[in-house]
Amino acid sequence: MATASATAALPKIRHTECFIGGKWLAAASGKTFPTINPATEETLADVAEGDAADIDLAVEAAREAFENGPWGRMDARDRGRLMYRLADLIEGEIDELAALESLDNGKPYNDARTADIPLAVDCLRYYAGFADKIHGSTIPIRGNYFTYTRKEPVGVVGQIIPWNFPMLMTAWKWGPALAAGCTLIMKPAEQTPLTCLRMAQLAQDAGIPDGVINVVPGYGPTAGGAIVKHPGIDKVAFTGEHRTAQLIMQNASQSLKRLTFELGGKSPNVVAADADLDAAAAGTHFGLFFNQGQCCCAGSRVFVDERVHDEFVGKLKELAANRKLGSPLAHDTEQGPQVDEAQFNKIMSYIDQGNREGANCIVGGKRFGDIGYFVEPTIFEGVTDSMAIAQDEIFGPVMSVLKYKDWDEMIQRANATCFGLAAAIWTRDITQAHEYARRVRAGTVWVNCYDVFDAAAPFGGFKMSGHGRELGEDGLRPYTETKTVTIKLD
Ligand code: NAD
Repeated sequence: MATASATAALPKIRHTECFIGGKWLAAASGKTFPTINPATEETLADVAEGDAADIDLAVEAAREAFENGPWGRMDARDRGRLMYRLADLIEGEIDELAALESLDNGKPYNDARTADIPLAVDCLRYYAGFADKIHGSTIPIRGNYFTYTRKEPVGVVGQIIPWNFPMLMTAWKWGPALAAGCTLIMKPAEQTPLTCLRMAQLAQDAGIPDGVINVVPGYGPTAGGAIVKHPGIDKVAFTGEHRTAQLIMQNASQSLKRLTFELGGKSPNVVAADADLDAAAAGTHFGLFFNQGQCCCAGSRVFVDERVHDEFVGKLKELAANRKLGSPLAHDTEQGPQVDEAQFNKIMSYIDQGNREGANCIVGGKRFGDIGYFVEPTIFEGVTDSMAIAQDEIFGPVMSVLKYKDWDEMIQRANATCFGLAAAIWTRDITQAHEYARRVRAGTVWVNCYDVFDAAAPFGGFKMSGHGRELGEDGLRPYTETKTVTIKLD
């Protein structure tokens, strides 16, 4: 058990180049970009800035590995074994990887060590078990024919991820792609490339053949844009902002690529009058402030029944005021800095806007400390539906509390957003819980809990929160093509 003063050891930064065809390569342009420690604002490392030329090389390597390499000929169960081995190697390095994730992203070491990495390992193991269970069916068509389907890998896939859960997003993308037999090119977020690069080396160490996994760090419009437009890529899986997804949809239209999107949210978290208010307060606090509020499914619109509003808000305020901010590497830190200066500035401007629009900031609202991109846990009460802090995804530690009186009207208000990623309700009334789960337009609904994730449970959004699902069996589908084979029988 960690003591209050314990701090994680500084990890080694072992990889800063592109990983293409099993080799570590500088960017073809020779350019690099800095990745910053958001807790100290210092440069951690200069990383290869890949662009179209590097994506071309990576696509060549991935295509060759897909069409001619050992990966395509390997028994499916053996593909799964390599994935299990990768999961084991990640687990074996968990302390160092957690520290590296914490350093690059700013998230508390303890969160990376107990949530991000175990979930990433679990995801790889879950999909490893699927590798030899992806199969088609025999179909009784009319006539004297034998018809069956094959589930084949979709091919070479491009995967573009954000910075909020770098290792976990990598595992969510690699797991189903590898299980299905695809090869891939990943572009990690420019803010957090380090752990994804380390995972690429561990994949090679696990025996995953060269060219199957390629990682090209770089910026969105250049490296990411090249993935989206490349005719040699069959599918793009993207997690990030909905505006970026709109651009990707346009840019991928020429090659009609298959696309899946996991996007943002503005998730309603409802506290009914009959809820266990202590449990609801703890879950609501966690559902918003976990990961510095940088969760796509953050419960950022908290609807509270007016009968318990004041009592409940008092509990929320106390929890937020006691949240421990500090060095992400300290074992007892609960909240680290936001990922970068741009996010910090965006969040502070939303806090300003909340104040200007007349919401009541009851706790937080300021920068924490002088160095690093820390924002105090912030709660606004008296928020109305039209305020920017009730409409926009802030992606930071800012909670908006809204009152409700009428159940039906509350559900309409909960649904009155362009997003539909997650929703939650706290209640002891099982009928009410089921009714909410049925009527709320969201891909995930939590009842008396929040942020419960499992590799087996599909996750993704309604409306502008996404296309398709990740995790579970649903998450495999976008990585396969169905081929129908019909044989004439004499
Ligand atoms: P972003 O869209 O700016 O960036 C995400 C990734 O896309 C980065 O790797 C970036 O370099 C790349 N990118 C940017 N422009 C691109 C372009 N023109 N072409 C191709 N790639 C491009 O998002 P962000 O601000 O880094 O991430 C936060 C967002 O991600 C939030 O909106 C959050 O809700 C969402 N998110 C969603 C989920 C989910 O599962 N639904 C999970 C995590 C994050």
